[in-house]
Amino acid sequence: MDPEPGSRARQLLPTLCLICHCTLHRTYSLCGDCEADLPWLDSVCGKCGEETLEPGVDICSRCRLDPPNFDSCFAPLAYRPPVDKLITNFKFHADFASGYALSRILAGSLAQRWRGDKCPDLLLPVPLHESRLRQRGFNQALEIAKVLASEHKTPLCARGLRKLRPTPPQTGMQGARERGANIRASFGLERTAEFRKARRVALVDDVVTTMSTVMELASELKQAGVEKVEVCCLARAVL
Ligand SMILES: [Zn+2]
Ligand SMILES: [Zn+2]
Repeated sequence: MDPEPGSRARQLLPTLCLICHCTLHRTYSLCGDCEADLPWLDSVCGKCGEETLEPGVDICSRCRLDPPNFDSCFAPLAYRPPVDKLITNFKFHADFASGYALSRILAGSLAQRWRGDKCPDLLLPVPLHESRLRQRGFNQALEIAKVLASEHKTPLCARGLRKLRPTPPQTGMQGARERGANIRASFGLERTAEFRKARRVALVDDVVTTMSTVMELASELKQAGVEKVEVCCLARAVL
C-alpha cells in the first residue's frame, strides 16, 4: 500500500466502490454517497473518543472520574457495519483498497485537528508481535500510518515500538484488571534519533476497543519523556 504510486494509479484508472460497486474516478474506493452513509462519530468524548450520548458534554463521566494516561483518542468512525467488514477484509484478507480508503478518511478527518503547529512530531504504529506479523504478512497499523505520514507530511517511525511477547486478544479478557495484566510489559521502545527528539507523538492503530493496549504504550512513552500522546485509529469500538 505505497500511497505515492498507488494514488497516482488510482487517479488514472476507474475503480469500484467497495460498498455499492459503482464505477468511480476517485483516489480511493468509496463513492461520495457510501462515504456519507458511514457510521460517523459526531458527539464524542474529547479524551477517550467514545460516543457520548449527552450532547454538549466534552469529557465523558468515566474519563472525568478516571482519566486515561494518553491525551486524547480520536476515531472518525464507529466500529459498526459496514466499517467492521471493511476493517476485517483489510486485516484478515489483505484487502488494501479497504485499508487505504479508511486511512484516507482518517487522514481527512485529522486535517482540522492537526492544522498549523498541532501536527504530532512523530507517528508510531502500534506494533504486532513477530509471530503475528509473519502470519499476517503486514502490520495494518503501519499501513494506516504510512497514509497519514504521506497526507500530513509527518515523520513515521516504523520500528519505534516493539511487541516483546504475543498476548491473547484483549477483547477476550473479562475485566480491566485482567486486560491490564495481559498487556503489561509486553512492549519495548526503540529510541531512534527521531524518536528521542519527539515531544508529541501519535499512536496509530486500526481499532481501539478496550484502550488497554494504548494505555500501556502511553505509559511507556510518558515514562520515556514524551510530553503528549494522542491516539488515532480508523474506528472506535465499545465492548
Ligand atoms: Zn458506493
Ligand atoms: Zn471518555
